[in-house]
Amino acid sequence: MSVTALHPLRHGCTQCGNSCRGHFISPLDKAFTKRLPTIMETLGPLYPDLQDASPTISPSINGRTRTGLANKADGECLFLGQDNLCRIHKHLGAQAKPLLCRTFPLAIIHTATEIRLGTPTRCYAQHQHWDQGPGQSPMGLTGLREEELPDPVPRGPLPNQRAQLQARPAPDSQYAQTLLQEDTLMHLLHQTPLTLETLTLFTAEMLANHTNTDIQELGELLRARLARLGKSMVASIAPQADRMRPGTHFWHLKALAEAMAALQPRPWPVLTQTQMDYSLYVLREWLFLREWTHHPSLPHGVLVMIAGLMLAAWRAQDAPNTPEGAVGDTFGHSMTAWMRLMHMGNNTRGLISDADDLDALLRAASSPPT
Ligand code: SF4
Repeated sequence: MSVTALHPLRHGCTQCGNSCRGHFISPLDKAFTKRLPTIMETLGPLYPDLQDASPTISPSINGRTRTGLANKADGECLFLGQDNLCRIHKHLGAQAKPLLCRTFPLAIIHTATEIRLGTPTRCYAQHQHWDQGPGQSPMGLTGLREEELPDPVPRGPLPNQRAQLQARPAPDSQYAQTLLQEDTLMHLLHQTPLTLETLTLFTAEMLANHTNTDIQELGELLRARLARLGKSMVASIAPQADRMRPGTHFWHLKALAEAMAALQPRPWPVLTQTQMDYSLYVLREWLFLREWTHHPSLPHGVLVMIAGLMLAAWRAQDAPNTPEGAVGDTFGHSMTAWMRLMHMGNNTRGLISDADDLDALLRAASSPPT
């Protein structure tokens, strides 16, 4: 099976520690769980807070019990040190960390025909280095040996059967039609210049089969839905976010929710060329790695992404000192927070609940035929 990457693999760790804050680090690989007692024996005498600490927790999430690393009261990973360094890495070497931490932010999937590598948008510094410097091998990016890399995750194009892979789907099956939609969209995402408006019209008309889309109306409907979702998020996120330092994931999420909740009717956002180039990179990785299958359908996912891009661009327009010629932190952080938020399917449904809701949204945005 061939191994492909759409873009050069790049990751520039700035040691901000933010990926170790406000997350539930799970699943843990068996080898890490096995060495955890030794890790605790080594670190316990060095750090009083680790001496009697329980290193893992097993909460029930969506009815499933999952085991992950314990967090401190402020939501940081138990092992994150005050100097922003992982204490496992610092004292026992990178190889002692959980595989999940070692591979971040590399994703490895396999389709019916190939293994795909990429870096989905998860790192809050991605917008600074996505097009900078040479790409790396997966081993160079993670520091892992080839045999230590995790197995590729099977990823088919059907959202409700993500592990299903078919090398030769029946020509008129949903599987084959979705592959065709993916190909057509990927082709469009490689076209330049491409505007957000063109992508939106393409999604409504070519992917979702709705004609006569009034782009201004659809933009306004998406804005209103962002505002509604933001209001519901603010209350639920605030208690956790208020315990976090500025810059951490929950802090970014709260800022995103507040910006959404405050959205008033406004014209389509204007993206700079660099922001559009970065957006296309993010979208292509998202499509290539089949992250979109977290959503009920491809048009559903693309409209959710478009809403996130509109929000990021509006926030960047309103931010003072947005640097010229760069993606800018406001836009970049917005996109990372949005991608992390939307990676959880249930959050997606807060914006567009299901296929019927998508249909209703697009119908409401249709201008009457002349
Ligand atoms: S184990 Fe280390 S690298 Fe992994 S989340 Fe905790 S502090 Fe970060």
